[in-house]
Amino acid sequence: MLLPGDGIGQEIVIEARLVLEHVAKLFGHVFAFPDGLIGGCAIDATGSALPEDTLKACLDSDAVLLGAVGGPKWSDPKAPVRPEQGLLALRKAMGVYANLRPVSVCSALIDASPLRPDRVRDVDIMIVRELTGGLYFGQPQGQETIDGGRAAVDTMRYKESEIRRVLHLAFELAEGRRKKVTSVDKANVLASSRLWREIAVEVAAEFPTVSCEHILVDACAMYLIQRPADFDVIVTENMFGDILSDEASMISGSLGMLPSASLGNPGQPGLYEPIHGSAPDIAGKGIANPLATILSAAMLLRLRLGLVAEATCIESAVERVLAEGARTADIARPGELAISTADMGKRVREALEASYPGRPTAQQ
Ligand code: NAD
Repeated sequence: MLLPGDGIGQEIVIEARLVLEHVAKLFGHVFAFPDGLIGGCAIDATGSALPEDTLKACLDSDAVLLGAVGGPKWSDPKAPVRPEQGLLALRKAMGVYANLRPVSVCSALIDASPLRPDRVRDVDIMIVRELTGGLYFGQPQGQETIDGGRAAVDTMRYKESEIRRVLHLAFELAEGRRKKVTSVDKANVLASSRLWREIAVEVAAEFPTVSCEHILVDACAMYLIQRPADFDVIVTENMFGDILSDEASMISGSLGMLPSASLGNPGQPGLYEPIHGSAPDIAGKGIANPLATILSAAMLLRLRLGLVAEATCIESAVERVLAEGARTADIARPGELAISTADMGKRVREALEASYPGRPTAQQ
């Protein structure tokens, strides 16, 4: 199910679709691409940020690929309906409780990182953020009056089951990677973090081949800058993950390059999307970087459809075009020629042919 959404969403999702169609042709698959409205364009057309028919089609689909929602047209905080409500409602209805953000630095773009090349060269982190619990959802939440003055309260509540399932997912991912999990909490201060750590110790015991370390969130914020290449899978609760994953995304230096996946129970359609927003400042100009969305499509193939060779083929094609010097404006250095969104998509499709493992060799 394709949900382009607003702003550059319209321009980047089409490029991801063309790449998926090309992969389907190369590997002999047939993909169907129903699409729907979400966010501001859905509010304009139907009055709702997540129309019923969009939601139903998403729940009936194998996977959902989303562009982005929002923009100045719909950003009045007093508006009765806001685009972001559509995205939150979709995540809730799909039951996606874990947000996965891979962070690595493509060697051709190493200079784009604000960190020194020697620190970022070997970075390959998977951040797993709990997405449906904790401070953003706990009740009570709101403003009140105490002693005649304004006060406000938020509640950080976690159930054992919510913690356990996301830790399980993190350890399973680590089994297929470098076999190391860093569980991040604030167990020296927060009761919810002490429960998190207790359960992390229990889950770690179920995965004897995976090593597990526990670190405090403030220390993790420092280590991500100081020694990012030491991390493999980082797993943490909702708010800590929100902040750490944005910090980690800066290691790569470019918002337009980073994909994400939000997953629920096995067998359920996940939600795959770039981490950036709808970039209203460049929408409609045909200059947005489509690579984060194309790489999100690769995550979809690998994690949801089990099409590992196909996903790797897309990732290799992206590496290849970057190594050849193809750059959209956001990743071009001063003086470098920037290509359009459509041209970047075309370059990736052409590179797929070269990355396709079944391509005829010179002897054939
Ligand atoms: P943004 O990520 O849209 O843009 C930040 C900056 O990065 C802008 O200068 C933009 O031009 C640039 N940028 C982002 N993606 C790019 C790409 N693919 N190629 C080239 N440049 C890119 O963040 P923002 O400006 O804070 O938010 C804009 C709108 O997007 C807001 O309405 C916000 O609510 C929404 N938003 C949506 C999502 C989502 O749908 N998941 C996430 C974040 C923000």
